[in-house]
Amino acid sequence: MFDLTKGFSRRQFITGTSCFGAFYALAKLIPLPALAAELASDSRVSQTPLVDKGFASIRKIGEGLYATISDTSKGRQTICNGGFLIGKDAALLIEGFTTPAGASFQMEALRMVSQVPVKGALDTHYHFDHSMGNSFYGSNGVQLWAHAATAKRIIENYAPLQGTDKNAVLGPFEKRIQDAKSDAERAHAQSDLNAMTGVFAIASATVLGLPNHPLDPAKLPTSIDLGGLTAVLESYPGHSGTDILVRLPEQNVVYTGDLLFSGWYPVCFDEKATISGWRETLKKFAAFDKETLFVPGHGQICGQEGIASIREVFDDIAGQAEKMYKAGVPAEEAQHRYVVPDKFKNFPIFAWGFTIGPAITKLYAEWGGKA
Ligand SMILES: [Zn+2]
Repeated sequence: MFDLTKGFSRRQFITGTSCFGAFYALAKLIPLPALAAELASDSRVSQTPLVDKGFASIRKIGEGLYATISDTSKGRQTICNGGFLIGKDAALLIEGFTTPAGASFQMEALRMVSQVPVKGALDTHYHFDHSMGNSFYGSNGVQLWAHAATAKRIIENYAPLQGTDKNAVLGPFEKRIQDAKSDAERAHAQSDLNAMTGVFAIASATVLGLPNHPLDPAKLPTSIDLGGLTAVLESYPGHSGTDILVRLPEQNVVYTGDLLFSGWYPVCFDEKATISGWRETLKKFAAFDKETLFVPGHGQICGQEGIASIREVFDDIAGQAEKMYKAGVPAEEAQHRYVVPDKFKNFPIFAWGFTIGPAITKLYAEWGGKA
């Protein structure tokens, strides 16, 4: 999608970039919230982390189940959340993270508690913050699992950012700031530039690692037997077109990848993101057992209240967008007019053009029959 011979269009950048970069701007502003009170009393959840490195901590959340939760205010080695599962015979790692150091940190933590062979590591989807640490697995002989389209999409989206002039990449974003027609539009364009600056910095410095164990979504769900512990891999639409989650039905635990942002505005920029599809997916999550523990792609571990909360965010975006759609406000303008309500004012926004903006333009396209 980045054809360097043809130059970059603004649209290609907005649809073709990853979601973590705005952490460069957000990192110091948003510390990770503490575990919710109800989780602090959940017998599955260990109150003391197995290990806490600042940028991420790892805690036990079930029998053989561990969650890696990132705190970007303290470092960017991991950025997204992940975890690992340990059975009697084998282990499964979740996520490649933003750097090989992040993936290595999680592997070391696994080895603190078990020496069973690692069956594989799963990228829940292709996005940058979940896959730029993949080379760690390659160099350590760990099979890398992901949705069958993941390898292709890593190449399409991140290889073109390597060996490229930074100004050619960021120029269109700077131009959007200059061309902004309102203060809101200018602020949104600035947040997108911050995001893209971060994406470029990491992608251009990373040795890309590609999954070597593609998972055909048509063949999911599939059960993985780790020895007394069965993990189910399932595919759902919504965030990236490559999303695979890990579910432990016997313990009511789900590692969602970015199909869940816990206490965050959802990142919707992906060309394969679908708002109606994602809302359907969240409706299915809401029908999971009421005791389900969710490890989200970003934000703190949560229960069903986290699902209810992101559904409310989508309802609010759709509600405001629908009013503008019916009033004849063009999509280009509507995407900048959304007002964050008080109850979500503490929800981090990666960058406007990666979250709220594309959610609105995609809703418009769905309503106009163009999606
Ligand atoms: Zn993502």
